[in-house]
Amino acid sequence: SNIFFKPIEKINAVIESYPKGVAGFKRYTEIMDTEPEVADRPDAVSVETVRGDIRFEHVSFGYEPGRRILSGIDLTVRAGETIAFVGPSGAGKTTICSLIPRFYDVEEGKITVDGIDIRQMKLNSLRKHIGIVQQDVFLFSGTIRENIAYGDLAATDEQIWEAARRASLEELIYGLPEGMDTIIGERGVKLSGGQKQRLSIARMFLKNPKILILDEATSALDTETEAMIQKSLAELSAGRTTLVIAHRLTTIQNADRIIVVNTDGIAEQGNHQELIAAGGIYSRLHQVL
Ligand code: ATP
Repeated sequence: SNIFFKPIEKINAVIESYPKGVAGFKRYTEIMDTEPEVADRPDAVSVETVRGDIRFEHVSFGYEPGRRILSGIDLTVRAGETIAFVGPSGAGKTTICSLIPRFYDVEEGKITVDGIDIRQMKLNSLRKHIGIVQQDVFLFSGTIRENIAYGDLAATDEQIWEAARRASLEELIYGLPEGMDTIIGERGVKLSGGQKQRLSIARMFLKNPKILILDEATSALDTETEAMIQKSLAELSAGRTTLVIAHRLTTIQNADRIIVVNTDGIAEQGNHQELIAAGGIYSRLHQVL
């Protein structure tokens, strides 16, 4: 018998109990697994491996007709690069990131991964290469093991432990009454926000995608938890193209490139030193941080 069949039934139950239309970026994980709003083209191809180069070419998009959120966005992200998006609330940082897994299709222009228009790729093939870590992580009522294994349902016990270790979850697991087999969620042990985030990081080590989208938490975590998460995320993002919707100063300062987004689009880009030296929006923003 396969212990993973049960959780999947539960996942579907959970998904169905959510109201429709909580789309956007929230509840990302569920959206990744539910019926997509966009469909495969008949000639769509499966892409087995990607390097993780991402390119936006003159991308325009709006959620509703007549209200553009993004206009003519050009952006090139090299494989392995870590990009931090910063800018005021509502500028479109999340929207830019949600176009990459095709939660929505662009209205004009195109997005490519390794030079391939993402609309030419089978959706499940595209999404296999993209991992999302967000603050509002999706856990189902099941064991820690099942919740981690959700990142790769074929994972061995050894791989699950390895992912837990790399996500700084080992100590927590050892401290639980039944270790890996402890039930979490509504009917079990409640996890803190930081513990949930680490669990979602563990999933990503198992999923092992080339492209990582990280919706950084705005909520404050205690210093120790914060440090653990930062360390795990740094390890996770190594060798992957990482796009962070950034809220933490250290994340922003350590990024290979910072993209400053405002309502007019991409206003500035460069690393921390470059943007400080340029004396533009970022340098003014930074002074008040
Ligand atoms: P924040 O830092 O607050 O997350 P953001 O820069 O990520 O902001 P987005 O969430 O991308 O900004 O929002 C950009 C614009 O798109 C906003 O005006 C927002 O109201 C709108 N918007 C976002 N999601 C949806 C949606 N699902 N339907 C309609 N409009 C949306």
